[in-house]
Amino acid sequence: MDSVDQYVARADALYHDVSYRSVAEWKTRTGKKAAGHLPVYAPREIIDAAGMLPVAMHGAGDQVEIIRGDAYFQSYICQLPRSTIELAMSGRLDDIDAFLFPSTCDVIRNLSGMWKMLFPKKFVRYLDLPQNFDRKVAGRFWAGELRHLYADLCALNGTTPSDDALRLSLARFSANRRAVASLMALRASEPWRAPAAEAYLIIRAGDVMPVEEHTAFIEGYLAAAQGADRPMRDYTRVVVTGAFCEQPPLELIRTLERAGCYLVWDDFTVGARFLEGDVSLAGDPIEALAQAFLNQSVKNACVYEPDGKKGEWLVNTVRDTRADGVVFAAPSFCDPALLEQPMLVTALERAGIPHTSFKYAENLGQFQVIREQAGTFSDGLRLWSNA
Ligand code: SF4
Repeated sequence: MDSVDQYVARADALYHDVSYRSVAEWKTRTGKKAAGHLPVYAPREIIDAAGMLPVAMHGAGDQVEIIRGDAYFQSYICQLPRSTIELAMSGRLDDIDAFLFPSTCDVIRNLSGMWKMLFPKKFVRYLDLPQNFDRKVAGRFWAGELRHLYADLCALNGTTPSDDALRLSLARFSANRRAVASLMALRASEPWRAPAAEAYLIIRAGDVMPVEEHTAFIEGYLAAAQGADRPMRDYTRVVVTGAFCEQPPLELIRTLERAGCYLVWDDFTVGARFLEGDVSLAGDPIEALAQAFLNQSVKNACVYEPDGKKGEWLVNTVRDTRADGVVFAAPSFCDPALLEQPMLVTALERAGIPHTSFKYAENLGQFQVIREQAGTFSDGLRLWSNA
């Protein structure tokens, strides 16, 4: 068995591989194609069943200097689309054959249009995720979209659509979600065993790893982390939310931990656990995946929720994870996260749950202010709860 450090080192190397060399190697090894998708949710099962490698794209973090990306966007939007364009214009995405743009927000929708104009030889698909959760209407619509996508990706990759292949992919991704859920459960119960920055890297390795390999990778890390001798510290337990799309710099996650916070839950890379639980293997697998989206998807700013329900999930998450408070960490100019935040704050205040908030960009380089803010919040919660 590998040590925790070995798992983390491998995940760290994949995290820093913004030229997607591991994807190129996979393609050379298998002779198949790769399909990338923007955050938050894309039906990775469909990509996998078509015989392609699903690649979750989360921008370039702080690893690429933006030279051309800024020319395509106004200054008052988030950083993720700039770095994504920069990666493409610099040839780092050349090995990705297809691009899926989910209807997360206007920025990603516009990016899909730009992609069609800038890269006309690439397969580009805008994924119009249902916002109406009526099982009949939305289920029929989304199943139709999934069927088209499956047929088109199979045609691109030279494979034949098959229910058996789809069921196999549904089972693989359900197993992966179980492994991710086990890791999240460990973080909630014994957060000192799986620090947030480490767990983040382990989950993000699934951005580029074949799903069955990633499942085994998480299970191996979990076994190593549970066996490692790590001290429990007198930290404050916090839930972090708002970071579901553009990702915070790794150093920001470490900064929160150094400020005395155990991150017992977060919505970083929430696309990897967007569906909760297993997808049914009975009946038509496309229907099963469509219904899973309607009935088993997480609550998130980019998913419609009826009035009066906003924030219930966050209050429940705080209670389930025995968190002391909530940290709102949202990308600057992120409409979905920042428009939802006041409604979440109202729900927290009604429930008497303390909170603090700050904004970041994926290429943020200074963390001292956030460290002081998170440290003060954490100290205050400890003093307050002991009063
Ligand atoms: S960070 Fe927010 S605004 Fe930017 S692409 Fe993601 S969801 Fe859209």
